Amino acid sequence: MNSSFDHTELCGAIHLHTTFSDGGVTYPVLIEAARQVGLDYIVVTDHASLAGREAGYEGFFGDLLVCVGYEHNDAANLNHYLALGCDTVVTFHDTPQGYVDRIKAQGGIGFIAHPIEVRHYFAKYPPYPWKDWNVSGFDGVELWNQMSDWLENLKSPLHFVKLFYPRRFLLEVKRELLEHWDALNRTRFVSGIGGVDAHTMKMKLGPFGLTIFPIKVELKGIRTHVYVDRQLPPADAPGAKAMLLSALKNGNGFVSNFRRGDAKGTLIFLLDKQGRAFSPGLCATVPELPARLCVSVPDKSEVRLIRNGQRCAVCIGRQAEFPITSEGIYRIEVFKGKYAWIYSNPFPVGRYPL
Ligand SMILES: [Zn+2]
Ligand SMILES: [Zn+2]
Repeated sequence: MNSSFDHTELCGAIHLHTTFSDGGVTYPVLIEAARQVGLDYIVVTDHASLAGREAGYEGFFGDLLVCVGYEHNDAANLNHYLALGCDTVVTFHDTPQGYVDRIKAQGGIGFIAHPIEVRHYFAKYPPYPWKDWNVSGFDGVELWNQMSDWLENLKSPLHFVKLFYPRRFLLEVKRELLEHWDALNRTRFVSGIGGVDAHTMKMKLGPFGLTIFPIKVELKGIRTHVYVDRQLPPADAPGAKAMLLSALKNGNGFVSNFRRGDAKGTLIFLLDKQGRAFSPGLCATVPELPARLCVSVPDKSEVRLIRNGQRCAVCIGRQAEFPITSEGIYRIEVFKGKYAWIYSNPFPVGRYPL
């Protein structure tokens, strides 16, 4: 494997709720858990609240960068949107296009949350899908939402195995959402992130209160990894946050499911004709053809190359190198058996629109 890909990888968890909205943990507990499981960053998104920032929880805690955004929704509690990098919560009961635009006008970025959520087994936990696909200007979509997958699989409270081993049922990103994401990416770049949607829910079983999804377990599931060009500056938290948000907006990385293995150390990059290395996502320059798409994963698996939404090559092993000879939108999926492990953001090879 060519080692010309200079990068620093940051592995983190996005879409976490605390006691400032409907989550079950306080910031200190969340921060301690994130440090204990070795994350580089967390992105907290309480509902319509930036209280975590006002309380002084944004910045570095040891090596952990804590970024405080929030989750927006419309008057019908649909069209949830993860807003990062905003100074204020924008007017609450606005239209989706309204809040997408207002968040952008503040210099923030936004990701459509749980876009096609379909859970419908518990009246108390209805689905909150994104309904308004005419909206433009969003930066990305939450490809994989850990809580959605769990609730969709939990068809009855009697499914105790699923109740107590929630990550076992994180299978793969919905094909329907991948198709939609691929279609969006044919016209403009739309970044993909993974979300935990951690609520650390408590359930009453008889006289006992039971936390069914402890925060340390929640943080060992869906993760978002980004490649940045240097170490985060420990003495400059705003600068570090800007680096992280830029990498998330530009999709410079991949989503993994820790339940299938720790994906830290994974390399996914493109080497162009001139020998220049490109990370996934948007980059300042366009790669020159012919190129090679290089993948190195920490464990033997099935590495799939996707071009314009179609699988076009497969390689079994820990390393793969795919020749790229034509323009298109390329991305990588890594599976272990029937379970998805890693989804890279797309490499746009050529100028938009393709
Ligand atoms: Zn939501
Ligand atoms: Zn949420």
